[in-house]
Amino acid sequence: MRHSWKIGRIFGIDIFVDSSWFLIFILFTWMLGSQYFPQYKGWPAVLYWMMGAFTSLMVFASVLIHELAHSLVAIKHGEKVKNITLFILGGVAQISEEPKEPVEEFVMAVVGPLASFAIGGILFLVSLLLAPLSRPFGAAFFYLAIINVVLAFFNLLPGFPMDGGRVLRSIIWRITGNIQKATRVASLVGQGFAFFFVFIGVLRILSGDLTGVWLIFIAWFLNSAAARSYSQVKAAGILEGVKASDLMTRDFETIPGTISIRALVEDHILKEKERIFLVEGEGRLEGFVCLEDVKRVPRDDWDVTPVRAILTPKEKLDSVSPNAAGNSIMSKMASGNVRLVPVMEGEKLIGIVCHSDILKYIQLRSDLKI
Ligand SMILES: [Zn+2]
Repeated sequence: MRHSWKIGRIFGIDIFVDSSWFLIFILFTWMLGSQYFPQYKGWPAVLYWMMGAFTSLMVFASVLIHELAHSLVAIKHGEKVKNITLFILGGVAQISEEPKEPVEEFVMAVVGPLASFAIGGILFLVSLLLAPLSRPFGAAFFYLAIINVVLAFFNLLPGFPMDGGRVLRSIIWRITGNIQKATRVASLVGQGFAFFFVFIGVLRILSGDLTGVWLIFIAWFLNSAAARSYSQVKAAGILEGVKASDLMTRDFETIPGTISIRALVEDHILKEKERIFLVEGEGRLEGFVCLEDVKRVPRDDWDVTPVRAILTPKEKLDSVSPNAAGNSIMSKMASGNVRLVPVMEGEKLIGIVCHSDILKYIQLRSDLKI
């Protein structure tokens, strides 16, 4: 089970720390306290560790500023930033939507590394000023200056979803006018870098340097993020011009909320081949159940769980008109964590779009290469 804790709020953005962050904090403190700071001879032993912990915290403060730079530009362009989370591989800003045009993406991507370069420069000056006053703080800020510059260069590698990959994507997008093609090229370069990191990581481990494990971990993260982003953009392309009325299920049956999930499956889903049901109790509509809701309940619990326990209450659902764009329904589902959207014509329910309907629609067209 993953856990994260909210540690504060800056510019209206919630800042979270993931449990995996503590591992990297300890590793960094250990590396700095046992290897980097002991280069400076003659300090009390405890000072090495205290400076190690201080410097690790400052590394993540630097990462936070880098992510805030991305987020502030995103907000300026009208995007919503859900949160910034610090985790084992650094930081990630959860921005709710993909950028709408190449220039926006370019600026949003490039400000992160620029912020890291700027912090690096400022901290280098700070380290020069502090060195005569305090050797430990001079050494800490010197290390932080280097780390920020390394962070900037690493993020500028042109593989999606690294910042450099986003810059590459925005340039190809601008030239070709095709975000799908741009994402495909940038993701492939990103996956290329991922394989390269695995190669370097393995070499390092073979030579006895265990930091290679971390590199492989980064590679895995980059590879899956690149693949996921590409399939998202591809899906958005397929849904372009598609309306709610093309996606919705028109036939649905009304069932009582008191029947068990097994009864729903055996008497309704298997017999009537329907996938979405309206659930009623005491003569009024309580909510909706779709096949995906059923699949989430373990089979052993089907007999004892009433349909009422898994339905999505109708109050929780925002309805759309039949002309609503497929992509807006998809992002509504992603941001609101709902799997169903009722389609209303005036006061009348004419259909329901279920998450699995959209996936099926995308899958079919992707298989047929339409
Ligand atoms: Zn970045």
